[in-house]
Amino acid sequence: MKIEQIKEEALHKLKEAKDVESIKTLSVSYIGRKGILTQYLREIPNLPEEERPKAGKMANELKEIIQKAFDAKIERIEDESHEIDLGIDISIPGRSVQRGTLHPITQITHRICDIFTGLGFDVVEGPEIESDYYNFEALNIPKNHPARDMQDTFYVSENIVLRTHTSPLQVRVMEKQKPPVRIIAPGKVYRCDSDVRHTPMFHQVEGLMVDDMVSFSDLKGILTAFVHQMFDEQTSLRFRPSFFPFTEPSAEVDIVCVICRGKGCRVCSQTGWLEILGSGMVHPKVFENVGYDTTQIRGFAFGMGVERVAMLKYGIDDIRKFFENDVRFLRQF
Ligand SMILES: [Zn+2]
Repeated sequence: MKIEQIKEEALHKLKEAKDVESIKTLSVSYIGRKGILTQYLREIPNLPEEERPKAGKMANELKEIIQKAFDAKIERIEDESHEIDLGIDISIPGRSVQRGTLHPITQITHRICDIFTGLGFDVVEGPEIESDYYNFEALNIPKNHPARDMQDTFYVSENIVLRTHTSPLQVRVMEKQKPPVRIIAPGKVYRCDSDVRHTPMFHQVEGLMVDDMVSFSDLKGILTAFVHQMFDEQTSLRFRPSFFPFTEPSAEVDIVCVICRGKGCRVCSQTGWLEILGSGMVHPKVFENVGYDTTQIRGFAFGMGVERVAMLKYGIDDIRKFFENDVRFLRQF
């Protein structure tokens, strides 16, 4: 038999072999002591002298090829059987690890804080369970004040409430700090209210700036800078006269409708405007309550709902979506 034939036949039989045992048997039949190739090598001395070197070289090379091919296949079969034991199918693509993201409300809160810290404001936080004094009294909302009817409050006890706004932080900060004051206070607030635009818990960011020369123009300037950074430079604002017990004068701030750009649509009830926050100049009573000299200093305050900002920014019409924790919704942010 010629060497090429031996090679072809050996590799073909190897291809057919399905298990380790038959490969080992095959190996013996070719390169074992009485194997075909071993016999061939033994007969080389009987060949004509000029053919011997070439035949010897080829036979030795083939012996090496066969040995390697057989060993490799045995190894592969053993690996595969090991994987089958573990229940692993190496042909299936790997599972990708799903990475979480920050909740859209957290993202918007961070964005709001970033913008205001860029404008020189400090971020402060305070208790969610608040005394009647800080939540109402100190903010010029006395016990008999009709404004208390505006807020459906969760009472923990007669004088302890779940804060209805982040405004108590104004008082808490000013009690401890002399002007100038420039703070924003993000956090959870609670009101007994639930529909497509209200949830019993939501998030607010309160802002306060107090100094000797602060004017309503500064309020407009700061809020314009904020809206331009949160939305874009083309988003214009308007200030509407309003009422809050702790500011005088007070204004509600609208931004031009982010959907129709002022033309009028369903989202803005055909007005072209969307309310975004409440604001005003700090009421002298609030300053008196913290011991500030109302002849020397002035300030402005504003408060916005984070969910409201997120709804306007992303065009979401139901506030409850933020708290249903449907990952199909949350993954979009
Ligand atoms: Zn619109």
